[in-house]
Amino acid sequence: RKEVGYITVGSEPFNELIGGGIETQSITEVFGEFGSGKSQVSHELAVTVQLPEEQGGLDAECVFIDTENTFRPERIEQIASAFGLDHQEVLQKIHIARAFNSAHQILMAEKVNELIQSGSNIKLVIVDSLMAHFRAEYIGRESLATRQQKLNQHLHTLQNIATTYNVAIFLTNQVQARPDAFFGSPTKAIGGHVLGHASTYRIWLKKGLAGKRIARLVDSPHLPEGECVFKITADGIVD
Ligand code: ATP
Repeated sequence: RKEVGYITVGSEPFNELIGGGIETQSITEVFGEFGSGKSQVSHELAVTVQLPEEQGGLDAECVFIDTENTFRPERIEQIASAFGLDHQEVLQKIHIARAFNSAHQILMAEKVNELIQSGSNIKLVIVDSLMAHFRAEYIGRESLATRQQKLNQHLHTLQNIATTYNVAIFLTNQVQARPDAFFGSPTKAIGGHVLGHASTYRIWLKKGLAGKRIARLVDSPHLPEGECVFKITADGIVD
């Protein structure tokens, strides 16, 4: 079994909260309201995975499965420059996959296997956002079972990539309102039990005061629940 790798999220308290960074061989899910910073963390990781290990990266490339057209190359340029990286080179190491519907999204994840087998040094797969297509396409109680089955298949593919190739999986999940009401297992209410079981780490992102953000770790198998504060700046995620 290969050694677990860690990718920095750009903030030390945030890294500490989740046990040292985003882990390979695991699925990490961030959920929160619109504008809570899920896509910002995704962009940050797409850059930091490329850093050398001594700077919190894995000296590797990533796949960005974009379901809602949220990928912003200009944002990558800002973050890359903040790390003193050549933004052209950084962009070349982000394999963008636009997913037009849930079937396409599932296919894109499967294609990651081929990409890795053909020699790409992929250590991170981002899906931003996981549920958007599934939610839009499978409406109503009668389609819920099919949705869960398809989602399960998708997550199984991702979990397989994580364990087979020592890759980190990072998923974003938008929730409509503050999930206080079903706190404890928010994603079970949103993505269903399938997602609840697949994610090893679940992070709830909230807006704080004065432009600050709060990350809360929930339901982790071996880390204590807790919170930290971080900021989103032009340079990316900072303490
Ligand atoms: P979600 O995916 O959770 O909806 P998001 O990260 O896509 O969130 P954005 O609206 O892109 O949402 O960004 C969220 C916040 O991040 C912004 O409100 C702003 O505070 C901050 N932010 C985004 N880009 C920059 C930037 N270039 N410089 C400084 N802050 C930024």
